[in-house]
Amino acid sequence: MVTREALTSALTLIGAEEAALYRWDEPDGLLCRLDSVGPRALDIAPFVRPDDGLVGYSFTQQTAVVENVYLQSPHGNARARDAGVRAALIVPLTHRGQRLGVMSAAIYSGDHIIGAVDVEGLGLLAGQVAVMLENTERTAQLERRIERIRTLNRLTRLVSTSLDLDDVLGQIAHAAVELTGAAFASFWMADEAAKTLGRGAYSDDGMAADTDLRAMAYGQGTAGRVAQSRKPMLIDDVFVEGQTAILDWWARNNLRSILAVPVLHGDRLLAVLAVNGRAPFRLDALDNEVLDSFLAQAGIAIHNASLYADVRRHREQLQAIIDHSPAAITLRAPGGHYLLTNRRWKQLQHVNAAAEPGQDGADGHVGGPPLVDDAAALAPNDLVTLAHGNTIESEMVLYGDGEPLTFLSATFPLFDAAGTLYALGTIYTNITDRKRLEDGIAASLAAQQAANVRLEQLHHAQSEFLAVVSHEFRTPLTGIQGLSELMSEKDFDPSEVQQFASDINREAARLTRMITELLDLERMEAAQMKLYHESVELGQVVKEVVERTRPTALAHTLSCVVSVTLPPVVADRDKVTQVVVNLLSNAIKYAPDGGEITVGVGWWREDAVPQAHLWVRDQGLGIPAESLATVFDRYTRVELSARRGIQGTGLGLPIVRQIVELHRGRVWVESEVGRGSTFHVLLPLDGPATPAAG
Ligand code: ADP
Repeated sequence: MVTREALTSALTLIGAEEAALYRWDEPDGLLCRLDSVGPRALDIAPFVRPDDGLVGYSFTQQTAVVENVYLQSPHGNARARDAGVRAALIVPLTHRGQRLGVMSAAIYSGDHIIGAVDVEGLGLLAGQVAVMLENTERTAQLERRIERIRTLNRLTRLVSTSLDLDDVLGQIAHAAVELTGAAFASFWMADEAAKTLGRGAYSDDGMAADTDLRAMAYGQGTAGRVAQSRKPMLIDDVFVEGQTAILDWWARNNLRSILAVPVLHGDRLLAVLAVNGRAPFRLDALDNEVLDSFLAQAGIAIHNASLYADVRRHREQLQAIIDHSPAAITLRAPGGHYLLTNRRWKQLQHVNAAAEPGQDGADGHVGGPPLVDDAAALAPNDLVTLAHGNTIESEMVLYGDGEPLTFLSATFPLFDAAGTLYALGTIYTNITDRKRLEDGIAASLAAQQAANVRLEQLHHAQSEFLAVVSHEFRTPLTGIQGLSELMSEKDFDPSEVQQFASDINREAARLTRMITELLDLERMEAAQMKLYHESVELGQVVKEVVERTRPTALAHTLSCVVSVTLPPVVADRDKVTQVVVNLLSNAIKYAPDGGEITVGVGWWREDAVPQAHLWVRDQGLGIPAESLATVFDRYTRVELSARRGIQGTGLGLPIVRQIVELHRGRVWVESEVGRGSTFHVLLPLDGPATPAAG
């Protein structure tokens, strides 16, 4: 606008009909008409070569040119003459020795003769315009510079805050397009090992989609050549140069020039930035400087991204290992806040939640309280241990789904660079199976030991039994031997012989009974004993045995209690009789001081099933509690001073048990030492399930 005022002043000053301003365009080597005023103002924008007409002459000679008869001017041009220019005045525009352009005024019909005063006047105006132009230029440059610094700042910020490499490089590509006035810019990412470039971010989706070129080898195409040489390349016209790839793409998109520059980080080539333009690039020093900064930023961004990718990969690897570990792992801040937990630990939280529901875990997931409390819950000396860099190991039991799980926890400290403890790591290993195995081994060891003790006892009992049996056998044998010797040595009366024979018979019968008992037990235990089933009135059996025994137990009061409602049971009468005999003879034997003995028969309900109940109660020595379970075992005799001298083989009760069990019944004893015992026998009413062969 200011230049327009100067041109208007020029019109009045010289009485011209047209005044114009030409600006020297150094890169193009042309004078460019910026403005033209007056009644014969010219269309804006034709370019004038420095060797063309008076305008060119004034500029190249750097001198004012006055032409009052244009038709005769040696430097005038045909266009002006044809247009009807009569006279013209052109002055150069310079500022501090720098050629900026020219200012011209043309007279078409006026009769003013241009003189020295006009030259001086226009010269003064030109001086002012030059200053103005220079200022505008400077301001524009300054604005451009500010804009670029802004762009650079934005990119720098972006690079330092964003880890999205595509976004950062895309924005740098955009900025490069704006800076250079290009049409398209793209990054080609280098794979130094494979010596290939792969297309990265770019500035324009449409142009990018228009080509299939995604990769090129080093040395191939312009970017490939830059990758190989690591030096920037500037081609004004790729069609002339002819070595650029996909020329059809260039033609379709009306592209012509390329600027390709390497993006380096130290020695490493990271990428190539390719900028494609429609006209040759004209970059000044400032442009180059800014472009360098862009490339530096791109280098940092790519380097950061690859560092970040490394860190992320390491983190992922570590996380994968931690997550797939069969152990539960946590990292906690000393205050208890969780910094890291793994999958197994979260599963365990759920297990724990089952035990104590309703609390949120410290790190946000729903679960029970943490497996172990926060660091504050550690004992003070634990903290000292950790502060010294040592590990604390302990065992704990968790109840998940009612199943107790045993864990071995190892807690270790983590220190930062300053040596401050900033986290506690804990690894929980499930040792439940190992524990179970250990417990199992311990249990079977104990069982083995118990069996050994039992074997030992059995062995002892057997030797005891042998001693007893040999003593028991010897007594009748000695009698038989003595009596038969006596009979062979002397003549006796038939009545005496009869007496001896009856004595021998009694002793032999005793022997037979003992042997039968032994064999019976053997057979019963080998399950070879035959039972003869019949309907047995238990009350009757009991009464018969009691009556038969009464004469041999004069010191005792024997009585029977018999239920009249009890039906007969299916059983082997002889065997049941033997049970009553054995129990009653024991009652008498082990109540040496006499007392009451009651034998009873009645009802009993076992698991709601009615059964026959037989019992024998005495007021004798009783059985110590620890022997109650073993009196029914073979050869077991309760050894107490009170019963020394009471003869027995330890076979009576085992025989009772065998008979009862063969009948699918049950036998047990209740007793108190010094007060007496009650032996109970239960027999099913319907007898043994499988009828024994008869
Ligand atoms: P034995 O009487 O031949 O020793 P048993 O098998 O009949 O063998 O009895 C085993 C042990 O049970 C006996 O040695 C005795 O110590 C104890 N016992 C059996 N019946 C009684 C009872 N009624 N009172 C006290 N102790 C008894």
